[in-house]
Amino acid sequence: MPSRRVGAARLALFAVFAAACGAPAPAPAPAPRVKPPNVVVFLVDDMGTQETSVPFQAKASELNRVYRTPAMERLAAQGVKFPQAYASAVCSPTRVSLLTGMNVARHGVTNWTLRQNVSPDNAHPTLLPPDWRVNGMTVPSRPHARAVAATPLPALLRDAGYRTIHVGKAHFGAIGTPGADPTTLGFDVNVAGHAAGAPGSYLGTRNYSSTGRKDDAVWDVPGLGKYHGTDVNLTEALTREAIAELERAARDGAPFFLHLSHYAIHSPWEDDARFRAKYDEIGMTPFQATLASMIEGMDHSLGDVLDALDRLDLAQDTVVLFLSDNGSPSQCPRNLPLRGHKLTPYEGGVRVPMLARWPGVAAAGGVVAQPVVVEDVFATVLDVAGVDWNGRVVQQVDGVSFAPALRGEGAAAGASARPLVWHYPHHYSGQPPWSAIRVGDHKLVHHHADGRLELFDVVADVGEKNDLSRREPARVRALADQLGALLRERGAVMPTKKDGSGSVPFADEVAAVAGGAVAK
Ligand code: CA
Repeated sequence: MPSRRVGAARLALFAVFAAACGAPAPAPAPAPRVKPPNVVVFLVDDMGTQETSVPFQAKASELNRVYRTPAMERLAAQGVKFPQAYASAVCSPTRVSLLTGMNVARHGVTNWTLRQNVSPDNAHPTLLPPDWRVNGMTVPSRPHARAVAATPLPALLRDAGYRTIHVGKAHFGAIGTPGADPTTLGFDVNVAGHAAGAPGSYLGTRNYSSTGRKDDAVWDVPGLGKYHGTDVNLTEALTREAIAELERAARDGAPFFLHLSHYAIHSPWEDDARFRAKYDEIGMTPFQATLASMIEGMDHSLGDVLDALDRLDLAQDTVVLFLSDNGSPSQCPRNLPLRGHKLTPYEGGVRVPMLARWPGVAAAGGVVAQPVVVEDVFATVLDVAGVDWNGRVVQQVDGVSFAPALRGEGAAAGASARPLVWHYPHHYSGQPPWSAIRVGDHKLVHHHADGRLELFDVVADVGEKNDLSRREPARVRALADQLGALLRERGAVMPTKKDGSGSVPFADEVAAVAGGAVAK
């Protein structure tokens, strides 16, 4: 089967070559069905744009100079870089967007998930959390209370003949709900994925468990018993399992979708012993050296996967997409030049590192300048795979394929004017609730608790040092109108006021009240 497909592709290539050389063209024949490309999505947890030696802005930052990510450098050289890639500010919202193509305001899984019907929100002085989809995502055939039902990306790919493989952190649905198990969501294979969004431990010697330290087995990484008691780091164990799946896919010859979703570099921060010493030697603090070792361990995994694709003769037929699910958390103290961290509305919370390699299609060493957002990955992967999903999904998809940009066809019409929307109606870990919108170069942030609106030019002022809201009231009003309208249209839920006066007003309602104040 695979050899026949390869043979047909070679014949087609020969026909092109022969025509180019002026040789007589062979008689027209039905176009052979060309095997669609394989797709690897390499998803890192909690990695900020600066936690790499690949600069995602014009100049290398201080952090770019201290971290070592040679495999990312290789991917950037062979593929394209996205300096303006976005995700949600926390794990589950991003992961549900990736699998459904829905914006967070529409899918309603607005915070991280774990236990059924239990919201992790902290108490807020004046607000209560909204009735959000605390149980995560599911599929239409397995409806579940407070979970969004959608047709997932891997199910569409599986229907199109792909073998669909999940390895690593899932975090799609709460414990005991259908979406907790990636095989419910269209994956043929699930290695080590379940409801929890962090591992008990990265250490094989601790069986990837926190039991005995935090006395809570929900964080125990499932399914890796063969590594228990060994010194194999979790990142390495997941890599070995992923490569075994690549080897199987190479033998079988069917196209594959590998969702290699590392638990790294999320807490608990534990040394990847293979890489720690060099960071001590350059004088990093113990915490920084630990984090740096985990970053390099993650990058080593990427290198091993790229090497395996080469060795198995799959690289030329495989699209590799690298990204993180949110910005760097506040425990990682430096994030310059970006402002803020994970959970915050600032670029440090929502801007993520992203790279793509598509051999023979995307220009090596290129840059895709247009802003992209994680729900676009859904549409892009299906575009790359040649799967027409129109009419075959129950959800309304917000994401737009950026495959044309990979193909060098330029940005889609209106790509730069397209509104990007974030929605975090929660108070958690010191971060009060907010919504935000970016249109063109400008981003408006709406703080729910006090109604404050901030405006930034995130291109001219990536560090968001200058709040332009008082200087540009007309732009504030226009963006507030757009944000309010989009959140209402997408069915977004807002926090409720404890004083019994109802939900927090949307940004346009705040701007209407503020009117004169912001116009000063
Ligand atoms: Ca995360």
